[in-house]
Amino acid sequence: MAARSIIFGMNSADMKAVSMINDQLSQLKGLFGDRLEENVILAPFTSFGIGGPARFFLAASKPADLVRAVGVARKTGLKFFILGGGSNILFDDQGYSGLIIRDKTERFRINGQIVSALSGAVVDRIVDATVEAGLGGMEYAAGIRGTIGGAVYGNAGAFGHAINEILEGAVMLTGEGKIEIVGNDYFNFAYRKSRLSDSGDIVLSVRLKLRREDKTRLTEIVNERRQFRWDRHPVGLGSAGSVFKNLRSLDDPKNVTPAGKLLEEAGVRGMSVGDASIFEKHCNIIVNKGKASSSEVKALVEMMKKAVMEKFGVDLQREILYIDA
Ligand SMILES: Cc1cc2nc3c(=O)[nH]c(=O)nc-3n(C[C@H](O)[C@H](O)[C@H](O)COP(=O)(O)OP(=O)(O)OC[C@H]3O[C@@H](n4cnc5c(N)ncnc54)[C@H](O)[C@@H]3O)c2cc1C
Repeated sequence: MAARSIIFGMNSADMKAVSMINDQLSQLKGLFGDRLEENVILAPFTSFGIGGPARFFLAASKPADLVRAVGVARKTGLKFFILGGGSNILFDDQGYSGLIIRDKTERFRINGQIVSALSGAVVDRIVDATVEAGLGGMEYAAGIRGTIGGAVYGNAGAFGHAINEILEGAVMLTGEGKIEIVGNDYFNFAYRKSRLSDSGDIVLSVRLKLRREDKTRLTEIVNERRQFRWDRHPVGLGSAGSVFKNLRSLDDPKNVTPAGKLLEEAGVRGMSVGDASIFEKHCNIIVNKGKASSSEVKALVEMMKKAVMEKFGVDLQREILYIDA
């Protein structure tokens, strides 16, 4: 042991780390074979188009993959991250030193007024299917990127509505490794927030309750919402949507001050760091104009935050999630 350590220049802590990685790798390979990939560049799996290599990467195509991959990661002390559509996150240029589990469990079905969807179902596809079925309740979400699991995590919403209004229940893999059926109350939903950011629970599937509505009217709403996004959001440029949360009055949650308005008035328009720039049509969006790095985006975020603090004394809260290497 001592001789080998000298040869490879490793101390016993290094040797222990190597043996742990070998153990993690062999357990994951044992379960997933060639489906487990190594050193996969993350940028293409995000709407920002930013992020270096993941040490391990697995595309989970069924809930059992999610459960088993998370189980091994927890058991072997391997850090892991559940990646939905990658539309609300900023990966690091250094990548991710653990296991990325990309949720590709995309199936959903409609039965009466109920939508049952696996966590990786794409929100916009559910919107189209529910409109086609003459079911209202999800039309506000037209054009929101990502998966239903990601939408539940961040209580995604728009136009004064959010996923918490239609989520009846879900099947969860809890932080303790149990599979549980839970109701809406479980999530402690708030504006762009659920308990999942603290609990480490993973959504395996959801049950959404919708209402019968006129299909023509729903189609009109969905088309309007998509046009609105098309006109105001970046098309063909990397971004992760709103950088900061809007401000809500504690007395009256309906009283909303858009973060974009404060940013505009604080003079951030035109700011950029390298290829990370303020989007010309919306001051609360950063676009990747080509090869923006995670550190460039973070530097620009700090400049935006500082500008609003100096002008209004307001401490903006970030909506985009930073995923450390
Ligand atoms: C142009 C643009 C416009 C946008 N407009 C809006 C908008 O109007 N409203 C809005 O709310 N958002 C908006 N967003 C942000 C984003 O689309 C939403 O936050 C979306 O719900 C994120 O889902 P995702 O699958 O991409 O999650 P990801 O970005 O992949 O992940 C976000 C978080 O969810 C967690 N997560 C993902 N799946 C699961 C799961 N199964 N169980 C537990 N945790 C999970 C991840 O681990 C991560 O912590 C916009 C983004 C873009 C790029």
